[in-house]
Amino acid sequence: MKHTPIKAALQCRDFGSTLTVAGWVRTRRDSKAGLSFVELNDGSSTRNLQIVAPKELPNYQSQVQKLYPGCAITVTGSLVESPAAGQAVELHAREVTLLGECDPMKYPLSKGRISFERLREVAHLRPRTNTFGCVARVRNCLAMATHRFFQERGFYYFNAPIFTASDCEGAGEMFQVTTLDLNNPPKNPETGKVDFQQDFFGKAVNLTVSGQLEAETHACALGSVYTFGPTFRAEKSNTTRHLSEFWMIEPEIAFADLQDDADVAEDYLRALFTAVVQECPEELDFFDQRIEKGLKERLVRLSTAKFARITYDEAIQLLEKNADAFEFKPYWGADLQSEHERHLAEKVFNGPVTVMNYPKEIKAFYMRQNDDGKTVAAMDVLLPEVGEIIGGSQREERLDLLEARIRELGMEPENYWWYLDLRRFGSVPHSGFGLGFERMVRFCTGMANIRDVIPFPRAPREIEF
Ligand code: ATP
Ligand code: MN
Repeated sequence: MKHTPIKAALQCRDFGSTLTVAGWVRTRRDSKAGLSFVELNDGSSTRNLQIVAPKELPNYQSQVQKLYPGCAITVTGSLVESPAAGQAVELHAREVTLLGECDPMKYPLSKGRISFERLREVAHLRPRTNTFGCVARVRNCLAMATHRFFQERGFYYFNAPIFTASDCEGAGEMFQVTTLDLNNPPKNPETGKVDFQQDFFGKAVNLTVSGQLEAETHACALGSVYTFGPTFRAEKSNTTRHLSEFWMIEPEIAFADLQDDADVAEDYLRALFTAVVQECPEELDFFDQRIEKGLKERLVRLSTAKFARITYDEAIQLLEKNADAFEFKPYWGADLQSEHERHLAEKVFNGPVTVMNYPKEIKAFYMRQNDDGKTVAAMDVLLPEVGEIIGGSQREERLDLLEARIRELGMEPENYWWYLDLRRFGSVPHSGFGLGFERMVRFCTGMANIRDVIPFPRAPREIEF
């Protein structure tokens, strides 16, 4: 069957032409004149196409007059210039076919406005609402813009494994994967601990928290790569910014230092904002009006924004001047809190800021050690309203320094043998960063809760669908 997306039908001015459309009824109103007006939506737009259905239709009484919100239909008719205000066209139906009926007493979306909390309980139906339709389309736009950006620059798309035996950042945050009988796991008789040698992989295995270490293997072979895949964190923090399953984009670039890394990160962010502004004007208008005033203007401004670049030292000095304004006192050696990051981006620079060279104690083991002995070549990109959106670094490419750092942190270099091999065999300077995809979708839609920008959110005690 051939049908025209409603978004295209609404833009069509070929009056008198015959179109077939398909979608779900939003509302129906019967007129005394012996016709019905049906607002039809197919998820291509927030706007509905008005169907005018005359009583002469053979199924007018049996079906058209029983069209309730949620019913699925196809309509063939002629496109007519609409006399009604607020719409340019309407479709005068010659044939209405009922595909799926929908009981108005039982359909959860029958009633007008429904809270986002309630909609989470019907996450399988919420994409039919205007808000979640817009979120889904913006999410799609950002995903495609991501691939376009990296592909155009010669990066290869790299798929990191989901099961992993290595721990990138923090063991406490990892989900364990096992096929052992949890009620009766085999124990090592000497240690009394669970014997993972008898587990499926013969080792303790987790879901990945980041594809970075694996991506480095391909950067150190193909030049530039990026991951775009799911990552998992068993963080108990029940916040509006954390999910247990979220998607991450992690570019890794060979022969690149920290400044090159920041160049790519800043270009990538501008490319994402540009894509949403250009490709999702209708969605941005919707979010601007309904969710967050000023959103559209902010994204337009960011799409061409210059990013300030400062060092962590400078950031601390700037923050200390304003120490009284903060809940957490800023001082050298402490990680920047969200309030600090926002102060820099909103008050000091009135725009995005890239902060470089953080104290090594607050950053990961693989970051390249600077000559000062105190800092590492890390960079965080901070945006107004949200603070950190990207975290990245130049990686330590010197074997002796990396091994020493791993030992210093009480970890075993043997566990990282393949990662260290990259430094043994043809080591090169390389850099990369990570962007939490849902944090970005949240920023571009103004949605308050990260659970509302992923189709089926996973969070502590939340996995119905
Ligand atoms: P936070 O301090 O907000 O928990 P993090 O320091 O743990 O973040 P990273 O380890 O740097 O984050 O992860 C890279 C990116 O992934 C972050 O910049 C953020 O955008 C995103 N991210 C991290 N944790 C989550 C999560 N639980 N849910 C969604 N996105 C996340
Ligand atoms: Mn975290």
